[in-house]
Amino acid sequence: MSILYVVGIGPGAYGKMTIEAAEALKNSDVIVGYTVYVDLVKEHFPGKEFLTTPMRRETERCELAFLEAEKGKTVAMICSGDAGVYGMTGLMYEIGVRYPGVELKVIGGVTAAIGGAAVLGAPLIHDFAVISLSDLLTPWEKIEKRLELSAEADFVICLYNPSSKKRKDYLKKACDLVLKHRSPDTVCGYVKNIGREGEEGCVLTLSRLHDTQVDMFTTVWIGNSQTKNINGKMVTPRGYRL
Ligand code: SAH
Repeated sequence: MSILYVVGIGPGAYGKMTIEAAEALKNSDVIVGYTVYVDLVKEHFPGKEFLTTPMRRETERCELAFLEAEKGKTVAMICSGDAGVYGMTGLMYEIGVRYPGVELKVIGGVTAAIGGAAVLGAPLIHDFAVISLSDLLTPWEKIEKRLELSAEADFVICLYNPSSKKRKDYLKKACDLVLKHRSPDTVCGYVKNIGREGEEGCVLTLSRLHDTQVDMFTTVWIGNSQTKNINGKMVTPRGYRL
């Protein structure tokens, strides 16, 4: 059986990768991934064979990884953050059915919600919902429903894929929905380029977030009704008595 690792490399910086992920990459002959992620890890794993495919070629990328593993090589398929959070792990299991001679080993990573929470303070101390605003694979109506119901249930909401070239106003639309159930003063935050060059975090109110343009390398947090701004940090109380 050849081994095919599915590795979450964390938000970006080498230091934010788990030791287990680094070991898996060290053990691999071939590292497969989206060009941007391969560029993030390349310098730390010299001598490896690197194979890349562009964005939106996910199925092709998975097939490529299995084909390499079938040749008897140890292969790592890399994803940013955790490979099981809007990543490739599911697709790898689905495609893997056709490759019984290849054993999948999944290695968890630090997802953007967690990496960025550490930059902002402590936004996720209590129950939270993670919602992607990308309607490429999910109908927008379903995204709207998830936003509204989690706003109503007073979850802290963490938004992935908050914007792209074609979806510039999606964050604004999401904020409009949340504003039906939450005060405009609700404490929110966003972090751009978590763990990468140009990392930039900001804590702001929901009404200011509504008027903010973010890009696709940004993750957004909308606090619950208890979330506070403590000296510029976004903090959701756990409920301990002070
Ligand atoms: N598997 C990844 C998520 C991929 S979806 C993970 O677990 O983190 C892509 C979205 O994730 C981006 O649009 C952005 O919202 C978020 N994201 C991933 N890496 C990020 C980073 N380094 N900084 C900020 N946001 C990031």
